[in-house]
Amino acid sequence: MSEGIQSLTDLLDRASAKRFLEAPPPEDLGLAEHLPFPFLAMVGQEEMKLALILSLLNPNIGGVLLIGPRGTGKTTAVRSLSDMVPDVQHSRCPYGCLPEDVEAGGIDAVCPDCAERYAQGEPLTYTDRVRLIELPLNAELEDVVGGLDERAAVHQRLRLKRGLLAQADQNILYVDEVNLLDDEIVDAILDAAAQGTYSVHRGAIAATYRARFVLVGSMNPEEGRLRPQILDRFGLRVVIHGLEVKEERLEAYRRAVAFRNNPRKVVQDYSEQTELARREVTESRAQLTQVSLADEAEQFGLQLIRDMAIDSLRAEITMFEAARAHAVADGRQVATVDDVRVVAPMSLRLRRSPFMVDFFERMSEEEEELESLLRGERPSAERDPPD
Ligand SMILES: [Zn+2]
Repeated sequence: MSEGIQSLTDLLDRASAKRFLEAPPPEDLGLAEHLPFPFLAMVGQEEMKLALILSLLNPNIGGVLLIGPRGTGKTTAVRSLSDMVPDVQHSRCPYGCLPEDVEAGGIDAVCPDCAERYAQGEPLTYTDRVRLIELPLNAELEDVVGGLDERAAVHQRLRLKRGLLAQADQNILYVDEVNLLDDEIVDAILDAAAQGTYSVHRGAIAATYRARFVLVGSMNPEEGRLRPQILDRFGLRVVIHGLEVKEERLEAYRRAVAFRNNPRKVVQDYSEQTELARREVTESRAQLTQVSLADEAEQFGLQLIRDMAIDSLRAEITMFEAARAHAVADGRQVATVDDVRVVAPMSLRLRRSPFMVDFFERMSEEEEELESLLRGERPSAERDPPD
């Protein structure tokens, strides 16, 4: 790695600290392609950035939910995330058939079209960038899981149309305003995200699709609550506030103006670091299987969950998997108590039902409690009652 950068986490810190002194002169872009703001150029919001990167590194974390008001950079951060991911193999087929299906289960494991392609030695996949699939707010269940293909039905062939979840395979699925979606849609998304596949049955025809995506949800709590059961199914939860430090706000403003004037220049300024980060993400993902969790880290985490009186088993899954991802992002093969400390707030907050119900009132109280536990203090409930 160049410039003495030690790890992915180090890279994130340094990119954020870079200063923009003046905006570049405007460039006449005409109908230029839409460029996302560079992920590494986002000011502050360290926890959000870290949560997004960890979820890229380890799908077992179960995705991220970003909670916060409008204008805090949630959508910008998610849109720029695809810069940080390596190219992947996308299936050419609507059912997501892959060559490894044939290797594992024989030629019947893929659809007839792919079986023919495979037999003729044609590739079943192509290499392309990870894409960001955004779920439109007005999406219907049919759009999400797929349904009967009416064009095919005209030709008296019954076929299923591929839904957004299948299109999201190997990509990032972004569900903005997740709290405003119908429950059945959110359930379908979360089921697919948890299993990595899903099935659709329409009358006599059925199909199973691959749906291995990084799920990112966002919500503005001012606009409606999220059912506790759904909230629990998101792995990491990040509560985003506006930037509080004056210098950070000024820096964020400078970068936004610079980007508006000349997006290509800003992207160029960050291209080297982005490429480094992309390589780091690729390598870290490959090394994740080698990373173990230290016994003390496991005990520390379990005690924390107990002290917080959290019932959901997703708490430890998310927290330990996030700790492993944090270790690998830091270039280590053992996740320690410190890794658990870093990821505990984003893994454990908003998991207890009273906090979900009284979301607003109780949130800050919970944050304080978590922080004091992380500092090694006992929770107030276990202290001796005053006389
Ligand atoms: Zn196929």
